[in-house]
Amino acid sequence: MTETANALTDAPANVPVKHEIYWRDTEPVTAGPALREDVHCDVAIIGGGYTGLWTAFYLKQADPSLEIHVLEAEYAGAGASGHNDGFMTPTIGHSLSALIHRFGTERAKLAYSMVGRSMLELRRFCRKYEVDAELEPTGYLQVASNRNQLRLLERDLDLIEQLGGQQSIELLGAADARERVDSPAIVGAFEVGGSLINPHKLARGLFRVVRDLGVHIHESTTVTAMRRAAGGHVLTTPYARVTAPKVLLATNAYQHQFAAMRRKVVPVWSYAAVTRPLTDRELAQVHWPDREGFVEAGNFIVFGRLTAENRLLFGGGRANYHYGRDMDESRHIDSPAATAALRGVLSRYFPQWRDIPFSHTYGGCVAITREMVPHVGSAGDGVFYAHGYCGNGISVTHTASKSLRDLILGRDSVYTNLLFVNGKERGFPPEPIAFLGSKVVTRALAVQDRYPHLVRAQIF
Ligand SMILES: Cc1cc2nc3c(=O)[nH]c(=O)nc-3n(C[C@H](O)[C@H](O)[C@H](O)COP(=O)(O)OP(=O)(O)OC[C@H]3O[C@@H](n4cnc5c(N)ncnc54)[C@H](O)[C@@H]3O)c2cc1C
Repeated sequence: MTETANALTDAPANVPVKHEIYWRDTEPVTAGPALREDVHCDVAIIGGGYTGLWTAFYLKQADPSLEIHVLEAEYAGAGASGHNDGFMTPTIGHSLSALIHRFGTERAKLAYSMVGRSMLELRRFCRKYEVDAELEPTGYLQVASNRNQLRLLERDLDLIEQLGGQQSIELLGAADARERVDSPAIVGAFEVGGSLINPHKLARGLFRVVRDLGVHIHESTTVTAMRRAAGGHVLTTPYARVTAPKVLLATNAYQHQFAAMRRKVVPVWSYAAVTRPLTDRELAQVHWPDREGFVEAGNFIVFGRLTAENRLLFGGGRANYHYGRDMDESRHIDSPAATAALRGVLSRYFPQWRDIPFSHTYGGCVAITREMVPHVGSAGDGVFYAHGYCGNGISVTHTASKSLRDLILGRDSVYTNLLFVNGKERGFPPEPIAFLGSKVVTRALAVQDRYPHLVRAQIF
């Protein structure tokens, strides 16, 4: 810890808030060198996040002779994989209700069981390969802070029962919930299996494992163009070309760069705020024995957790889409309005900690599809894609990578028949309709959060 201590309170002295992703400070990275010579390979993967890296991992395990090159514009984990909030959950897409509404109970059940398996395998992976992703298998609490949210918890419990999972799951009343996390804001909760992780360390650990398996990972290598030629698809990068018969587009929120994917995804900004580490004395002020994260029910969720360094991380709130899929960090990484809203959430949940300063506040782009579910598949002619995890991608990218492995190897398997594979995808309209539409939908979702009993429609 770099902060100097305040001798009177034992709290570290305040340091200026950084508008940078907190997790990057936990393991500084220098991006590797750019690719400088032309290569031919079996599979080229564009994007070195969880999707690209897990797919490379499973392809190499299935066939060690495959020549695989991963091309990453910055460094492995520079995208959402390195700066998400670290809730490893079973959720697929935006919500359970949206999923069941679209695909029915049986298909949802199968997909959930595969994602549940992924959560276990991820833990085993970290143990086996000694990836210290600061994984805490605490599960998390889905919480309600008002009567409307309690109704949502009851609805979700009914849906979970339909799926036949977690039979013993029960709705905790305020007193029982506060035995778990003693927050005056919580009026009800139920527990969901899952873990908290450091997402950046998971991405960097995965990068090292995949590289050591013999996959070529080129950081600092942006793909600027892609065209069809006799030997396969030719990918242009600043200093070299890569030719491969099979290409995976694993750029998620950045997917619109590729013609075939132009309208499939919108990047929506989501914000987080992280405090300095809490002192032992501050930690003792709140009964939170199992350190589980918690997530409020609703369309625009807010959530809180502790990090391994005992910092508080709060995130979520109203998400914004900027005209023309604007993902420019220099303009949007800091949102004073989002920070103020998160300060309000922190004070509401933990009045004792309301004045603990934030050390980092930042935003990142969540990839949303029109259906609010991820899409994984084959676009034909050796091009494969995966995108649109809707802010729930830590476990689902792992499952999706097995679907991608089997699609790329031409196998028919349980993974290639999961509900998010080769599904119908409508895509978004062109601008300005996409922008205006986002405003309408955002408003509708916010109204539904406020008056769930009045607005019962399944908006997605
Ligand atoms: C703020 C935020 C919070 C989230 N919180 C959670 C959470 O708590 N739990 C959860 O389960 N999920 C969460 N998610 C979602 C999860 O992080 C993502 O679904 C997941 O990381 C997607 O992985 P990916 O590999 O598909 O995409 P990414 O990790 O975004 O990887 C795409 C990569 O492609 C690279 N790239 C882009 N263009 C090019 C190009 N032209 N050439 C080469 N490389 C390129 C990028 O640099 C990037 O590294 C969150 C996401 C965000 C943004």
